[in-house]
This record gives sequence, structure tokens and C-alpha cells, in this order.
Amino acid sequence: MAEETIYSKIIRGEIESEILYQDDLVTAFVDINPRAPKHFLIIPNKLIPTINDIEIEDEIALGRMFTVARKLAKEAGIDEDGYRLIVNCNAHGGQEIYHIHMHLVGGRPLGPMLLS
Ligand code: AMP
Repeated sequence: MAEETIYSKIIRGEIESEILYQDDLVTAFVDINPRAPKHFLIIPNKLIPTINDIEIEDEIALGRMFTVARKLAKEAGIDEDGYRLIVNCNAHGGQEIYHIHMHLVGGRPLGPMLLS
């Protein structure tokens, strides 16, 4: 059994966060340490530690993460200028929290593909 992270507490509303969207499959909230004017996190409600742990049955939740990204980008007014979606995996990928999360970053030109 994978160990819960702070994200599970955010999903359950046990710690404070700026929730932007939530349904039965995914939750989206503002990143606490934004690296761009808009920086949101979109996560599956199910604890999937890394991309390596994804199972076929997770495809619906993972697809929902993209449709929520589209919706949030539009609401934030960054859809036309553009933005970036990032999912880090394990140490070399820079993953710090072991519950899959999609970063949605935008609000300024982001430059070449790798952030910082
Ligand atoms: P990663 O390096 O891909 O694992 O990204 C983890 C992200 O989670 C970082 O961008 C952090 O700023 C963000 N983060 C950590 N704790 C919180 C929190 N309590 N609320 C919102 N974002 C958080």
C-alpha cells in the first residue's frame, strides 16, 4: 500500500488549500509555491504514487485531468496565449510528492521546455 501524502489531506479537505475544482475522480488546487503567475496542480483522487504505477483502470481519471486542465486554463484566461502541463516522475524527473500530479503553469512566456 502506497503511503499517503499531503495531497490526500487536501483532497479530503483536512488541510487548507485553494481548491479550484473537485469531482469524484480528480481535484485541482493552487500550487503553494507558484513558479509562474498561474500555477495549478491537478491530481487523481486515487493515490497513484508515480506514472510507473498507472493501471489501465486509471485511464478515465487521467483523461479527466486533461479536461480539467483545459477548463482551468480557460477560466484563468491563459488558454489562448498558452501554458504548459508537466508531470514529473521519480528522482530524475524532480518528483517531490509521490501522488501523481499534473502541473499547469502559465501566465508568462515559459521559454524552453525545462523549467529552472
Ligand atoms: P513535484 O516536484 O512535481 O513533486 O511538485 C510538487 C509540488 O507540490 C510543488 O510545486 C509544491 O510547491 C507543491 N506543494 C507542496 N505542498 C503543497 C500544498 N500544501 N499545497 C499546494 N501545493 C503544494
